[in-house]
Amino acid sequence: METLLTTDPEVAAAFIRRGGVVAFPTETVYGLGANVFDETAVAKIFEAKQRPADNPLIAHVGHLEQIGELAVEVTDPARKLIDAFFPGPLTVVLRKAERVPLIATAGLETIGIRMPRNDLARRFLAACETPVVAPSANISGRPSPTTWHAVFEDLNGRVDCILQGEATEIGLESTVVDCTGEVPIVLRSGAIGIEEIRTAVAGAEIFSGVMSDAAASPGMRHKHYSPRARVALVDDAAECGREIHAAFIGLDGGGANFDKVEICTSVEEYARRLFAFFRECDAEGIEVIFCQKAVETGIGRALMDRLRRAAED
Ligand code: AMP
Ligand code: MG
Repeated sequence: METLLTTDPEVAAAFIRRGGVVAFPTETVYGLGANVFDETAVAKIFEAKQRPADNPLIAHVGHLEQIGELAVEVTDPARKLIDAFFPGPLTVVLRKAERVPLIATAGLETIGIRMPRNDLARRFLAACETPVVAPSANISGRPSPTTWHAVFEDLNGRVDCILQGEATEIGLESTVVDCTGEVPIVLRSGAIGIEEIRTAVAGAEIFSGVMSDAAASPGMRHKHYSPRARVALVDDAAECGREIHAAFIGLDGGGANFDKVEICTSVEEYARRLFAFFRECDAEGIEVIFCQKAVETGIGRALMDRLRRAAED
């Protein structure tokens, strides 16, 4: 398959309207989209990414009215979170409308819905004239793509089109919140931290394994965010062993022990740079990536979640 590269959201959207799959930028990471109501097109996403069929997709809307095409009911907590955070890096999980095909939700009766705030994403989604389901635009298991070059590296020849935008502003995936019940439950942490969620709905909780399985976010079981290099979490640079072909990323430290070092000036910058740094390390033949732990408030919680998953075998 030939992959068209374009900066024109209208050109990219035309592929979606014809049943194609298109990678596009958002403020979180690049997504790989298809028309949610076209089962054949949605199947192409799973094939292109080699994504396990039990990992559900998030539906992206360009207008708030499209939520009514996807969900049977917008619950009270969902309404509050939508009012507070749409458009933005937040996904609400609601009971799905009948016409949403089960392939999009990996067999679940619920669907994740998000309205991106990135300008190019919004122009693209408006031109698609339908909600677009999109997981991250990487081969499954690899770090999510934060530049169109990273999308190209994984998916050139496997998708119809790549909409070329800037490097993403946030760099980690959206906060996912189950809003099917009275108490919203954070299933996946993201840029919008629990502290912020609670300003909109005071009783919101974070999912813990002891809650009912019904609330679990299925895709979180799968291996994620992994560079080829080994990832090791450390408190500071002094703790790192002397290894050949080693890299360090964090908020302070560094030193001569490393072949590659990135010191970030804030936890936001650390989050924004992490996945691109992983990919650069792989391209440069790094074997061990030492990652400094961050304080788990705000986006720091999401950053630590991704770091822990990347460090798992
Ligand atoms: P990705 O778009 O690659 O970041 O993956 C989407 C992730 O969002 C999934 O792996 C799940 O963790 C979560 N998700 C999407 N839809 C649902 C849903 N209906 N219920 C619970 N979690 C969901
Ligand atoms: Mg993903």
